[in-house]
Amino acid sequence: MVHAIRIHAPGGPEQMKWEEVEVGAPGPGQIRLKTTAAGLNYIDTYHRTGLYKLPLPLTLGMEGAGTVTAVGDGVTDIKVGDRVAYASAPLGSYSEERLMQADRVVVLPQGISDQTAAAIMLKGMTTEYLVQRTYKVKPGDTVLFHAAAGGVGLLFGQWAKALGATVIGTVGSEDKAKLARAHGYDHIINYRTENFAERVKELTKDAGVPVVYDGVGKDTWAGSLDCLSPFGLMVSFGNASGPVPPFEIATLAGKGSLYVTRPTLVTYTAKRADLVNSAKALFDVVSSGKVKVEVPQTYALKDAAKAHADLEARKTTGSTLLLP
Ligand code: NDP
Repeated sequence: MVHAIRIHAPGGPEQMKWEEVEVGAPGPGQIRLKTTAAGLNYIDTYHRTGLYKLPLPLTLGMEGAGTVTAVGDGVTDIKVGDRVAYASAPLGSYSEERLMQADRVVVLPQGISDQTAAAIMLKGMTTEYLVQRTYKVKPGDTVLFHAAAGGVGLLFGQWAKALGATVIGTVGSEDKAKLARAHGYDHIINYRTENFAERVKELTKDAGVPVVYDGVGKDTWAGSLDCLSPFGLMVSFGNASGPVPPFEIATLAGKGSLYVTRPTLVTYTAKRADLVNSAKALFDVVSSGKVKVEVPQTYALKDAAKAHADLEARKTTGSTLLLP
C-alpha cells in the first residue's frame, strides 16, 4: 500500500484526504512509477470542486515525475530505472506510486531534473502550444497574458520574449509585478487597481494586440475582447476567477471580426508525436537558459490541501511542487 491524496466528494480543500491505496502491477502498455515530485496546477482545483466533472473517488493530479519501478507487457521503449514525466490523464500524480500509460510519459533528458520536470510539464507544454501553435508569436508582435506571475505566466513571459515579442502582463499585486518584470514582461498592469483594457490601448497607441491569452476567465473576458485589434484572437484557456458566461456571438463582429478559441493541452498533446515534440521544445528552451524555472513554493504531498488553498487565495507565484 502507498499513500495518495484522494477525494470522495467534490468541494473545498477539506475534501482532500491522505489515504492508503493499492497500486498493483502494471497491465499491458502500462508502467509503474515511484513519484519523485508532483506539480500543482489550477486545473487540479477544477477537478476537486467538480467544475470539471470526473468519476469519484479520485486521486488528484495531472503532472508529475518519477522513477519507473515496473513495466507491463508490450512496453519496449521504457525500462525500469528510467526517469520519466507526464502531464496527462488519467489523473493520479498526487500519489507516492502509481500506474501510468507508457505512451503518455516522456523519458527525461539528463539536464532536466525530476523537480524541474514536475514543475513544467503541464505549464510548459501549455506555454509551448500557446506561443507556437494556437498563435505563432513572432518578432514585432505585442501580446497580452493574464496572471503573468502564475505558473504558466512566468514561463510564458520568458518564452514570448525569447520569440521577439513585446509582452504585456497583468498581475494582482506589486510583488507579483516585480516578479513578472524579471521574467520577460515589458509592461505590467495591476488589474486590481487599473483598467487593463484602457492601459493596453495606451501602450499600443490604440492599435490593440493581435492576441490575448486569458486563463483568468470570468473577471477578464469582457476587458480582454476590448484589448484586441481587428481580426484579433481571444485565447480563453482557463477560469481561475470562474467560468466565462455565455456570450453573444455578434459581440465578435462589433469588436472587429474577432476570433475566439478555447484550447486544451489534452487536444494539443493527444497524438504521441505532438506530446514528444512539445516536451522536446520545452526541454530545449529550458536547457538553453532562455526560460528559467521558478519553484517558489514546495509542500509535502500530504499537505496538498494547504497548497490548493494557497493557490486559490492567489498566494502562490510560478510553479509549485508537492513532494512525497
Ligand atoms: P496560476 O499559478 O496562474 O494561478 C492562477 C492565478 O490567477 C492566480 O495566482 C491569480 O494571479 C490569478 N487570478 C485572477 N483572479 C483569480 C481568482 N478570482 N481566484 C484565483 N486566482 C485568480 O495557475 P496555473 O499556472 O496553474 O494556471 C493558469 C491558468 O491557466 C488557469 O486558469 C488554468 O486552468 C489554465 N491552464 C489551462 C490549460 C489549458 O490547456 N487550457 C493548461 C494549463 C493551465 P493574480 O493574483 O496575479 O491575479
